Amino acid sequence: MVRLTVLGGAGEIGGNKILVEDGDRRILLDFGISFARRGQFFEEYVAPRAAAGLADLLVTGVLPAVPGLYRQDLLAIGGPGVPAPHTEPAAEALLLSHAHLDHAGHLGFLDARIPTYCSAVSHGVLSVLQGVRGRAFESEFLDFLERPAFRDLRATVSRRFELVEGEFTAGGFSCRALPVDHSIPGSLAFLVRTSRGNVLYTGDLRFHGPDAADSEAMLDAARREGVWLLLAEGTRLDVLDPRTEDDVYRECIGAVAETTGPVIADFAPRDVARMRTFLRIARETDRMLVVTTPDAYLLETLRDLDPRVPDLRREPILVLKERKQTGTYSDRDYQRWERRVLARPWARTADELRPMRDRCLLALGFWDVQHLADIGAGEDALYIRSASEAYTEEQAADERRMRNWLELLGVRRHLHSHASGHAPQPDLVRMVRTLRPEVLVPVHTERPDLWRPLVQDTTVVEPRTGVPLEW
Ligand SMILES: [Zn+2]
Ligand SMILES: [Zn+2]
Repeated sequence: MVRLTVLGGAGEIGGNKILVEDGDRRILLDFGISFARRGQFFEEYVAPRAAAGLADLLVTGVLPAVPGLYRQDLLAIGGPGVPAPHTEPAAEALLLSHAHLDHAGHLGFLDARIPTYCSAVSHGVLSVLQGVRGRAFESEFLDFLERPAFRDLRATVSRRFELVEGEFTAGGFSCRALPVDHSIPGSLAFLVRTSRGNVLYTGDLRFHGPDAADSEAMLDAARREGVWLLLAEGTRLDVLDPRTEDDVYRECIGAVAETTGPVIADFAPRDVARMRTFLRIARETDRMLVVTTPDAYLLETLRDLDPRVPDLRREPILVLKERKQTGTYSDRDYQRWERRVLARPWARTADELRPMRDRCLLALGFWDVQHLADIGAGEDALYIRSASEAYTEEQAADERRMRNWLELLGVRRHLHSHASGHAPQPDLVRMVRTLRPEVLVPVHTERPDLWRPLVQDTTVVEPRTGVPLEW
């Protein structure tokens, strides 16, 4: 018997946490943060307390109260709703589709005996994230401090990662990693062979990005293997929009070519595909692409793992050296990872960028806006917002603040140009019609009800959080 329990990602976008059981074999697919649920209770200054272990996250239902999942040190702290400590973990492996936090963000809370299977690139992204954020309770992906963390006892525990491509075995299951195109590099879909048939988990994907050929190859390979049960994302099941990454390129290059002042391109961090689009635009309009230190650290980390990641040594890229701590650019103001990136010929301070800003394409957003103010902009500047619409109140408030800053800096010309990281309805439907699965279990969508009339040859089973489905 195959049992599938969606612990997160049912009727919501993200927070994917799926338990697959087949006899005595058990694996997890993703273990992400449910931002919708988390946002109902927490904000910047009211965050889950490390001192309370898992209690804050379990009492609010941000994490599922399932026995056998979590770290022994956190369970031992106890608290309301915290399961009792266990001897055997409830899963033998975690298959991680990609490094977006709504899929990977809470893996640091899992029992350390559960190894994570992911692409080398996803592992690289997680190491960058943990490095940039420093040691924080919700960012301990690769290793963690055992809690309670007494000052004289601060040994870290490493988590086991298995970097996979192609065929591999995890938790007794024969599996296949299939690269897909998404708005972060290293994204995978997984084919898991069960006693009932092949399960395909799409993770997040699109068929209209620069690496669309990966998604098409995945579809072809999965079709040839045969899919019994499809666990499909449906973020944009209600959208018909055919906009592609190429549209972003075409819309933006025209506007950039007409601009005599600096260009500001505001896009999601770690969206290397979008960075490649703006790098191409910079090259073709004879500008230098200016990126932040965390962006440069990401490029440096991924360079040897994925040949599509831009190489700082060969490309017209400069790295903004932020003013930190003492404000004097002293070496001691920077952490080790920052010093490694900044001790290179491509580092520039805001003062050094200011006189050359008209020849720059500045990949900076709201979080970097004060540095942008140091560089300056003016009436000749162009601001490109290359991200999705604001979903939450906080995002909307940040967008307003960004507009206020731009007004202050005299930037009058604004352009919105974006293509999503997720497939729209026509591509999702084509995927299902190509794979012809017996069963479709929709995840990562607020509209699972839309599937049924679109794929009439397939049985659609809408999951409910924490309720096992059995075949
Ligand atoms: Zn997602
Ligand atoms: Zn994603």
